[in-house]
Amino acid sequence: MKLKKRKFLGGFNRFRLMLTLGLAVLLPAAALIYVNYSQLRAIERDKGIEAIFHREFQDVLLYTEKKINKKAYTMTEEARDLFPSPDSDIQEKEKKLDLILAQRPWLSHAFLFDEKGLVFRSQPGLMGDKYFREEHDQMTESNRLWFGKEGKMLLEALRKKSRGISFSGGQVKRENGDAYLAGALFVLPQTATDRIVLGGISYEGCYLNGILFQDILDEMVSQKSTDQGGNRLAMMIYPADMEMGKEIKPLAVSAGWGEGKPEVTRKFDDFRGLAMGIKFQGTSVEALGRTWVHRSFLILACLSLVIVGGLVLTKHVVSKEMALARLKSDFVSNVSHELRTPLALIRLYAETLELGRITTKEKKQEYYRIIRKESERLTALINNILDFSRIEAGRKEYEFRQTDIADLVRNTLDSYRYQIEQQGFAFEESIDPDLPPVRVDREAIARALVNLVNNALKYSADEKFLGVKLYRANGSVKLEVSDHGIGITRREQSKIFEKFYRTGDPLVHNTKGSGLGLSLVRHITQAHGGEIAVESTPGKGSKFTLSLPLAGTPAVSEARA
Ligand code: ADP
Repeated sequence: MKLKKRKFLGGFNRFRLMLTLGLAVLLPAAALIYVNYSQLRAIERDKGIEAIFHREFQDVLLYTEKKINKKAYTMTEEARDLFPSPDSDIQEKEKKLDLILAQRPWLSHAFLFDEKGLVFRSQPGLMGDKYFREEHDQMTESNRLWFGKEGKMLLEALRKKSRGISFSGGQVKRENGDAYLAGALFVLPQTATDRIVLGGISYEGCYLNGILFQDILDEMVSQKSTDQGGNRLAMMIYPADMEMGKEIKPLAVSAGWGEGKPEVTRKFDDFRGLAMGIKFQGTSVEALGRTWVHRSFLILACLSLVIVGGLVLTKHVVSKEMALARLKSDFVSNVSHELRTPLALIRLYAETLELGRITTKEKKQEYYRIIRKESERLTALINNILDFSRIEAGRKEYEFRQTDIADLVRNTLDSYRYQIEQQGFAFEESIDPDLPPVRVDREAIARALVNLVNNALKYSADEKFLGVKLYRANGSVKLEVSDHGIGITRREQSKIFEKFYRTGDPLVHNTKGSGLGLSLVRHITQAHGGEIAVESTPGKGSKFTLSLPLAGTPAVSEARA
């Protein structure tokens, strides 16, 4: 009944533990893992990483365009500052414009329009190209007409711009193929606002690369690549009206572009007709996104494993602690019971003797013997408990002395011989007479032997046999205690040496014991530098073998637990 209740309580505690672990740890951990997992799935599905990269690409492109614009404005302003005054005569104007063109080979045309008409000069070095010549003639004509008609309106629009400059661009023809031409139209700053004076220059596309684009692209690539987690960027500038699917003929390309199309593009606002493209060197945003998602899944899986491992470990440790707590409470009730029984017996027999009712000598002898035996049992139990508490407190000390071990074993057994035979045990004793002296703590070894013998007597049911052997083997002395008792299952064999542990056999539960004996035996053996082993078959019997090394027994007279 008692056993059942304890089992039930144990089960209840276990249930509570599982519930706590489940609610307090497992549930939040599982929720965390699930939330992370679904977030990762959403990122994977919505291509979240790609979107982030694309947004950053847009920012880089915008920033690059701003830089290019800034430089283009500065270059245009520098040229504008050298422009002739509208009040100078035509020769003067032509001379000054020609000088500007001579100093800036990347300019194709320079022109000044005022009330007196248009002075349109073109780069002499390019005049050999027939398309360029045609362009010169055509632009001279069309600009004259255009400015004459719309000059006032154009000026008004230009004056609204903060720097008084407006850019435009488009494809033109040259003998060696299509080319890009960028034009800048501006107000001359020192002229009165009521006058219609317009200046302009145009940049020859093939030069734009060298003076405007290339440096900025390279600078941006090296500056922004470090912001992109070590993935190097590549950028290019190309005519925006290239049809989709057609191979892009870039105007300027940063180093490391390699193959492939841009991931993100942006059309220039000012240099109409031009676009910028950006991508990673040697990899794509999609591949990076995929790698990131894969890596995150892997990390999540590893973390989940660690959490599960931690939980299993926690459960294991807590269960062990609970088992130990249960064993301790069993121990207290076992020990109190064990103390009470011999004391009650001693009192009963002593009182009977005191009353003088026992007359026969044999009866008296028997009573005396019972009293002695019970007090011996009490002493053994108390010694075990004292030893155990010393070991637990780390205060157990051993006194090693050269000892005739055969003599020690024989003497210890002698005080048990009568009891053994009385209980109907067949007793087989085999002690090797030629054993060398061994350095041992006599009392401790005797206690170990007594514990082993007591166990053999306690845990034998049908076949009552006790064997004690002392012999030399493999450089050690072996003390063997065997019985034909109830035996111990393989699973429990490793546990019986733990403190408080008692096996689940019904006979064990009906037998008094504290669960301390074998843990003491193990401690004593280890303090001697030896080891204890058990061989046992349930229902057939057990054999405990205590080995003490002959050489190298501890020189110090102390061993702490
Ligand atoms: P106790 O005998 O006081 O319970 P021990 O530490 O001496 O404690 O033994 C621990 C347990 O090992 C015992 O409760 C018993 O279940 C088992 N045991 C020990 N010796 C034997 C044996 N010779 N035969 C069968 N079981 C044994």
